[in-house]
Amino acid sequence: MKVAMLYGVKDLRIEEVDIPKPKLGEVLVKVKAATTCGTDLKIFQRGYVEKIIKLPTIFGHEWAGDMAEVGEGLDWPKKGMRVRGGNSAPCLRCVMCQKGNYNLCEDMIWLWGAYAEYIKVPARMVSVNMQPVPQHISYEEAAITEPLACVLHGVEKAGIKMGDSVVIIGAGPIGLLHLLSVKRMGAEKTIIIDLVDERLEFAAKLGADHIINPQKTDSHIAVRQLTGGYGADIVIEAIGLPSTWEQALKLVRKGGTILEFGGCPPGTEIKVSTEILHYGETTVMGAFHATPLHFRKALNLIASGTIDVKPLVTRKMSLNEIREAFEILSTSKTEIKIAINP
Ligand SMILES: [Zn+2]
Ligand SMILES: [Zn+2]
Repeated sequence: MKVAMLYGVKDLRIEEVDIPKPKLGEVLVKVKAATTCGTDLKIFQRGYVEKIIKLPTIFGHEWAGDMAEVGEGLDWPKKGMRVRGGNSAPCLRCVMCQKGNYNLCEDMIWLWGAYAEYIKVPARMVSVNMQPVPQHISYEEAAITEPLACVLHGVEKAGIKMGDSVVIIGAGPIGLLHLLSVKRMGAEKTIIIDLVDERLEFAAKLGADHIINPQKTDSHIAVRQLTGGYGADIVIEAIGLPSTWEQALKLVRKGGTILEFGGCPPGTEIKVSTEILHYGETTVMGAFHATPLHFRKALNLIASGTIDVKPLVTRKMSLNEIREAFEILSTSKTEIKIAINP
């Protein structure tokens, strides 16, 4: 089968490998769509933590497809079913899992290998993080379950309430998924900040109430003006840079919440004023990944039409064109997610 193998930074090669054989409890899925992700782009451009991705590996982690082969010992799923699965499966046994923090599992299985004709799914993932995909949604939409699950985990933690004003820093795929989610949760005013006008216009089309380009407008002053002088109830950072993590601290109201969502490069730190924590009673929180429950919810929200992720797929390409796809994502101002159809 044809696969896109990642060897290192910007070193992605199309190769032929044997189709894997599913063993006890495992399944083999024919990948029908795999979507590109901000994390993929980061890994392609600068590398990532080895605990999560060991190179070389077949790349890609957002996928959906058809059940091609079912290993021994399984009553479910059945051959031919449309499914999505992964990209993580917690152990359910470690202290984090037993405390309910499945996303922080000490023994997490991570699954890479979506940019391929077939993907073999480990037994644990089949039982804790795989769902049937309803007929009426596309494989591309089903693949977006993964990033939406992560976003749901974040917005639930941040406790968005009806009537809240929400600032989102970053209008990339993750910022836009936050926008779609917080609007559904009843945010009254959404303000999105990005340096690229084309992205801001796209966010406005998806329903952002206000857009700010900090190269043209002081975002601090603009957010104060739009929130009656106080700052936003919730500020979400969806870029992953220490500078924007710090910027988020300046846009929140007293008693508000900052969700630092974007993962920063390893070893980085930010400065937080003691005043905003003490006198301002500000809550600063991080969010990482998602639990199996969030994956289930995310797919259901896509399937019910509650969150329409279709507009986020701005281009479709073949597996042979994968390098080109990442070049496009590195430079383009208008592409959000590319669906790879192997
Ligand atoms: Zn992703
Ligand atoms: Zn665990």
